[in-house]
Amino acid sequence: MKKFVIERDKLAENSRRIQERAGVPVIAVLKADGYGFGMAQMAQVLAETGITMFAVTEPEDAVKLRELGFTQQEILVMRSTAMADEAYQAVQANAIATVGSPEAAYCLNEVAEGCGTQARAHVKIDTGMGRYGFLPDQYAEIKAVYTHCAGIQVTGIYTHFHSAFADEAATRAQYKQLCNITERLKADGVDCGLRHAANSSGLFCYDDLMLDAVRVGSAFTGRIPAKTPTGLNRLGYLESRVIELRTVPKGHTVGYGAGYVTKDATRIAVVPVGYTDGFSVEKKKDLYRFRDVIRYIIGEIKNGLGKGAIYITVNGQRARVLGHVGLCHVSVDVTGLDVHNGDTAILDVNPLYLSPLVPKEYV
Ligand SMILES: *Cc1c(COP(=O)(O)O)cnc(C)c1O
Repeated sequence: MKKFVIERDKLAENSRRIQERAGVPVIAVLKADGYGFGMAQMAQVLAETGITMFAVTEPEDAVKLRELGFTQQEILVMRSTAMADEAYQAVQANAIATVGSPEAAYCLNEVAEGCGTQARAHVKIDTGMGRYGFLPDQYAEIKAVYTHCAGIQVTGIYTHFHSAFADEAATRAQYKQLCNITERLKADGVDCGLRHAANSSGLFCYDDLMLDAVRVGSAFTGRIPAKTPTGLNRLGYLESRVIELRTVPKGHTVGYGAGYVTKDATRIAVVPVGYTDGFSVEKKKDLYRFRDVIRYIIGEIKNGLGKGAIYITVNGQRARVLGHVGLCHVSVDVTGLDVHNGDTAILDVNPLYLSPLVPKEYV
């Protein structure tokens, strides 16, 4: 028995907190299956809390959202694309496409005209992310999307911060580059539409980068890299139960590689959750800054010394995982704790790595 539990009221509370902090419309980013929380269920809760605009990466997800019945919301497809099939999907879903290059503009324009319609789009500016967007010095090309593409109605313009959680100077420089372009458009008599830049860290680490809208994803889940206190609920946990309780003597080894040796007689609870479910599986460390590298090295040394312990919660009490996490089980130390067979075990997992075989349950 195991399931990933997501509390609706906590998500709703996060949504309200985010909208209150933003003070401008919030574009809710639902990429990667809603950051692993389930795009459909997440969209439902967010819509109920007043979110009227979603953003996805895959054009296919825009189609899916429409099929799920989200017909009133705006959907921004954040991928600029020179692929006609992707542009077609965006147009068919009545989504707002992203145009980040002359090729993408040409492609969307052709597709829209072929469909006998006008596609809506936001123009993307690459201020340092290096993935989608016109470079800031391509002003003529940017303006041309607004003024020379009969098949495209541009209703917004945006950029994406690469280091909002860590580097204020770089973030403000990116923001400034976007604003320079919107001001120039204005001076040329072009209505640039909805301006947006801030992601979750941009919203919570700065008071003044909101522009006309913010694009927020991870903050809904309460899991953002920024150190700033956010007042958000950390969303989601893996629930299982104790299926075996046993006591082993002092000097007994636990787990593959005999990674742990008991220092005394030890009462062990077995919980049937392991790597296969996504427990204790993490993305390679993001070593963005020198101090992150130092922290990482210290952490690894501590791990080597057996100090990087992993804890789970059993019957409401903190219990340490002994030895290495197995593919399908963990053994935890419940010596002296009030624990019985069948008691609930709660484990922290990153839902992005949660096995698709583990059911998600909104409660
Ligand atoms: C993922 C993404 C966001 C949201 O980022 P969070 O930090 O999760 O809020 C916003 N904009 C773009 C273009 C993205 O790819």
